[in-house]
Amino acid sequence: MTAGRDLSLPPAASIREVGPRDGFQNEPETIATADKVALVNQLARTGVKRIEVTSFVRADVIPQLADAAEVLAAIDIPDGVSRSVLIPNERGLDNALQLRSRFDEVGVFLSASETHNQRNVNRTVEQSSIALERVIARAREAGLRVEAVISTSFGCPYEGAVDHERVLAIARRLTEFGAQEIAFGDTTGMANPRQVRAHFEDARAALGTDVELTAHFHNTRGQGLANVLAALQADCASFESSFGELGGCPVPPGATGNIASEDLVSMLHEMGVQTGIDLDALLDAARAVRAVLGRPLGSHTLVAGPIRWRDSTGG
Ligand code: ZN
Repeated sequence: MTAGRDLSLPPAASIREVGPRDGFQNEPETIATADKVALVNQLARTGVKRIEVTSFVRADVIPQLADAAEVLAAIDIPDGVSRSVLIPNERGLDNALQLRSRFDEVGVFLSASETHNQRNVNRTVEQSSIALERVIARAREAGLRVEAVISTSFGCPYEGAVDHERVLAIARRLTEFGAQEIAFGDTTGMANPRQVRAHFEDARAALGTDVELTAHFHNTRGQGLANVLAALQADCASFESSFGELGGCPVPPGATGNIASEDLVSMLHEMGVQTGIDLDALLDAARAVRAVLGRPLGSHTLVAGPIRWRDSTGG
């Protein structure tokens, strides 16, 4: 309701909804293409300005997203809502570019830790970096905006601590390749707020103000929203989240969901940080995906409902 006295926060934050990719790829069952399209279309009418629609991964690796081209071709997205797709490699970019007019941004990714990168994409971090240089250059040539995601930025489930300077060096290199946005992923929920604040302060100092810095938190240990606050305090104002708290990571098994978009939007609005998103409409979208999946979801606001402050009209 009221802004805190000493808590200086950005006046607005950008949210990229990643449920249709990070969420749907981690469901045990494959969601029907028509359901995906309907859910993306509904999300695009909540006021969210960015949606990660799908991923051009090999169908045998992630069968849940084998219909990437069909989904991209079928969605009906209002002007002003940016559509992004995740691109694992140059082959994926080639496939996505067949539908160039159907999206605006690409996301590329690698892990900060060697073991996670090996298990996820079967390459060393250096091999991934070299490959990404070409993918990023070609995406930029095609007029696409490029986000580069650094997974396991705050800790690795296989190696433990990930060297902070190493993460910043990878980030710097990706910006030199042409990435306009760097997302730091807490892929398996190992980050804590103190670490996050220091990380984003250092990242801003290292990368300058031209590059957009984005926080991608998973709520694996319930610390996702605390980490959001810490990132905001370090002047990070760009977040990725999933409706319903869907999401996870293919490796290791059991890595659980992104922070819930509804919980993120509720907290930001209560603190006076604007998002442009209609929380009630977003909750409707989360209810819709819950109905499609037929199981309870992790989102708190979906269970409790939005906060309704009583006002002078007696509401
Ligand atoms: Zn994720």
